Amino acid sequence: MFDLVLRRATLPDGRTGMDIAVSGGRIAAVEPNLPGAAAQEIDATGRLVTPPFVDAHFHMDSTLTYGIPRVNRSGTLLEGIALWGELKPQLVQDAIVERALAYCDWAVARGLLAIRSHVDVCDPRLLAVEALLDVKARVAPYLDLQLVAFPQDGVLRSPGAVDRLTRALDMGVDVVGGIPHFERTMADGAASVRLLCEIAAERGLPVDMHCDESDDPLSRHVETLAYETQRLGLHGRVTGSHLTSMHSMDNYYVSKLIPLMAEARLGVVANPLINITLQGRHDTYPRRRGMTRVPELMAAGLTVAFGHDCVMDPWYPLGSADMLEAAHMGLHVGQMTGVDAMRACFAAVTENPAALLHLDGYGIAPGCHADLVVLQAADPVEALRTRPARLAVLRRGRVVARTAPVTAELTLPGRPQRVDFTRPQG
Ligand SMILES: [Zn+2]
Repeated sequence: MFDLVLRRATLPDGRTGMDIAVSGGRIAAVEPNLPGAAAQEIDATGRLVTPPFVDAHFHMDSTLTYGIPRVNRSGTLLEGIALWGELKPQLVQDAIVERALAYCDWAVARGLLAIRSHVDVCDPRLLAVEALLDVKARVAPYLDLQLVAFPQDGVLRSPGAVDRLTRALDMGVDVVGGIPHFERTMADGAASVRLLCEIAAERGLPVDMHCDESDDPLSRHVETLAYETQRLGLHGRVTGSHLTSMHSMDNYYVSKLIPLMAEARLGVVANPLINITLQGRHDTYPRRRGMTRVPELMAAGLTVAFGHDCVMDPWYPLGSADMLEAAHMGLHVGQMTGVDAMRACFAAVTENPAALLHLDGYGIAPGCHADLVVLQAADPVEALRTRPARLAVLRRGRVVARTAPVTAELTLPGRPQRVDFTRPQG
């Protein structure tokens, strides 16, 4: 007897009428019309059941601080960084923990069960590092939180940052971060990439850098990142986040760059909600979108994810932990309305970031963790279109969140009494 059977599921790969059996927190079988009883049954009624959403790029130390101590009037990246500098000395550990836990509650309700968060290590007290390590332990039963040691003010530019970064790694932070385009010179940016990749190689850790978050087509630190990955044999363990300068680069140079990135098996994270609002601010018209070249990078075989980056913080006033919002924006900005491209956008907030985070036991197959989300949608494209309710969210085979199906009631003579924005049947 199974602990739970989820019946009549449509899977992201298109299989329909599938039953998913769970035993001991893991998936025991995935078959149509699975015989046998279970302690608990959930009927998916033909709706989409997906492995959880994964956010490969977030800032949990700043989330939900919008308006503290003031709002970002211009909405620009630079005012956001200045505002974060004002806020940092005022941060209190308990408040960081409370806000992060509140965000994780939202995440679980949205079926987002794994997040890689950068944590600023340029504060001499390393308050946010302590706070998020505490949060990581507290949410572990229901959410995988991975932390990146992020030197927001530049690992070379900010005095003492190398020491603080290595201290954060000693304390248990999982990934080495960086911000080469924020160092004082291109040469310092390249030196920072080299230094940080060497630290990662020495410690056997992955790398995930904010890289070339700029409209400057000559910001080419991703080239150095690919080179150092290759030189140090870190293939498949290094991710470049943002890479917005690639949007503005010369096409000929990009034709050399992308194969170098593919050779190093770099991971790529675009943050469409943030890139579309923060980049191109010096432009008049035409105004650049700023998102990196997602379809071209995918076509070259690189693993590309969409991250949320920010929710209600100095850089972005909106958001509610819905990765489908990030994917929806990425689809539009990248003009990815082809059938395969839309499915790739869904993968960019599920299986692709799961691969970048090296999540263990992710997926819908026997032996995987029974982490599943039932959506009020028929398939991944409808999920992108309607950003639907997460009817049930399961972690290790137990329901951790539910949302009632969302329908609107109509009082129009001769018309249906309800609409739920799914395609009419028949
Ligand atoms: Zn970021």
